[in-house]
Amino acid sequence: MYEPFSPPENIGFIGLGKMGEPMVRNLAKAGFRPVLFDLNRDIVAKLAKELRAKAPASLPELARVCRVAITMVPDGAIVREIVLGGRVDAGASLSAGMTAGSVLIDMSSSSPTSTRELGKELAKRGLLLIDAPVSGGVRRAVSGELAIMVGGDGDVIDRCRPILASMGSKIFVAGPLGAGHAIKALNNYVSAAGYLAASEALVAGARFGLAPQVMLDIFNASSGMNNSTQNKFSQYVLSRRFDAGFSMGLMAKDLRTALEVLRATDTPAPLADYCVPFWEDAAKKLGPHSDHTEMVRVLEQATGTELKKGGSS
Ligand code: NAD
Repeated sequence: MYEPFSPPENIGFIGLGKMGEPMVRNLAKAGFRPVLFDLNRDIVAKLAKELRAKAPASLPELARVCRVAITMVPDGAIVREIVLGGRVDAGASLSAGMTAGSVLIDMSSSSPTSTRELGKELAKRGLLLIDAPVSGGVRRAVSGELAIMVGGDGDVIDRCRPILASMGSKIFVAGPLGAGHAIKALNNYVSAAGYLAASEALVAGARFGLAPQVMLDIFNASSGMNNSTQNKFSQYVLSRRFDAGFSMGLMAKDLRTALEVLRATDTPAPLADYCVPFWEDAAKKLGPHSDHTEMVRVLEQATGTELKKGGSS
């Protein structure tokens, strides 16, 4: 049995975007020593200064000073490229610097199939992989209260618990490698379907003459309540802020992954068959960098109805 990784262990952190940046701050707050890497060198320089953290120039250099590395990048294809290298430059990859027994924690929302394939490749080199995607958005990444769903070997997960606990308040062992990524994609499908249903209902209700906030108050005291009616519409849509911090492009990617899981398990999925292309189409119309809460604009534009705090127009 190995000891759990505890502060002040060096933790490589790759991907310092909307989620990675607050997550790495919480790692540092818990006493871990983050070692930073991102393609965006400005964010690396800013965080390295703030956290007095190392920022190696290359992935192998990062791997040489860390027994554990975390990836928090857009998708599994990018994780694979970081870890094994592109077709041209395997020497510049993370695994080129990792030593046997080192652990990679992929906290990105990756495809479970690609995660299992990556796990096999890493195992051949004596390297360990767990998947630990998160839910809770930027708000809970900042507060250190993410839900973390973990897949992989139980002993490796136990060793990583103190690291995960510095970023999340609810840690679930979902199952073997890939299980975390599978449930993460399915979770986002349920969330996206709920958002779409609530969007349709709110636009229809507004056109029927009801005030959007009154409808939300009624849903939230009734059986139509969901995460979007509780935590998204009033905050990001009626306020017209649309700044939840999770992009349309990433949501569409998660929904494609969910569909991959539904197909791979031969599960009839009429709702997903409608919902996933709808979100993909919205991502094309609104742009991949628009906030996912902007999806309602597609229905607003189609009907000439805008949902607002005081009423609708
Ligand atoms: P983001 O686009 O804000 O950040 C991604 C970061 O990865 C960027 O800083 C980018 O420069 C970096 N990056 C990309 N390719 C890289 C590479 N090859 N090497 C090094 N760095 C690279 O994305 P985000 O919103 O922080 O999301 C990250 C992951 O977390 C995604 O998988 C997303 O689906 C998931 N997620 C996001 C949220 C959210 O609310 N934003 C919530 C839960 C899960």
